[in-house]
Amino acid sequence: MKQKYTTNAINLKSYDFGEADKIVMMYSKEKGLIKCIAKSSKKPNGKLCGRMDTFVANNLLLTKGKSMDIVSQAEILNSFFRIRQNTEKMFYSMYCVETIKNFGEENDENSNTVYDLLYSVLSKISDSKTIVEIILATIRFQLKIINVFGYAPEFKTCNICKEKIGNNYSKFSFENGGLICINHILKYEKTYKIHPKIKDFLITMQQSDFYIETYYDKLADIKVSKICFDMLKSYLEYCSPKKFNSIKVLETI
Ligand SMILES: [Zn+2]
Repeated sequence: MKQKYTTNAINLKSYDFGEADKIVMMYSKEKGLIKCIAKSSKKPNGKLCGRMDTFVANNLLLTKGKSMDIVSQAEILNSFFRIRQNTEKMFYSMYCVETIKNFGEENDENSNTVYDLLYSVLSKISDSKTIVEIILATIRFQLKIINVFGYAPEFKTCNICKEKIGNNYSKFSFENGGLICINHILKYEKTYKIHPKIKDFLITMQQSDFYIETYYDKLADIKVSKICFDMLKSYLEYCSPKKFNSIKVLETI
């Protein structure tokens, strides 16, 4: 008898496979990145119809296959349907999914945490009322996910001399993995000048949960949040084992 197992998983990407089937890349709570065959999922009346779309979180029953496992059943946990109603929600959600595709691994030992972070950010983006809320959720995701993958930026002390940054201006150095004193000279690297309030904002985003409203959630405006998102996006690209592709396409739309 073929071995079956269940897991919760979020769809990251799918490819057409033959007339009626799809191959779906997912991030699962138990096994990290997985690729499965979803038979008849392209048929409008098939039992998997709509369940294999990008961003949808399912509870799956999978059957072990020779090269790829087969989706036997899928029960929707959350379709995050509001993401599809708004291009900005789509953009930031695609970015989060792309991050998981690049950093995630098969049989990831942190799969539980990674799955929960992806689920939380998609949920928060889906429910957001404003663009700032969407970006703040994505910033929290960037900082938390990079921590799981071992590149958490240090914002409290200088990464060169270990002095406290305190209320001084500093620089974000990717090579040094966080902030450094403003007076350290780096020869070849582009750095970002950081106001002490931005440093405090980043520390708060790093530490607070998606659904807890902090002082900065009320204070942050679109300009500040976009600058921080772009800076962290560059940092994640710097740390990533793979190239970010689809975001560049999205940015041109
Ligand atoms: Zn220093």
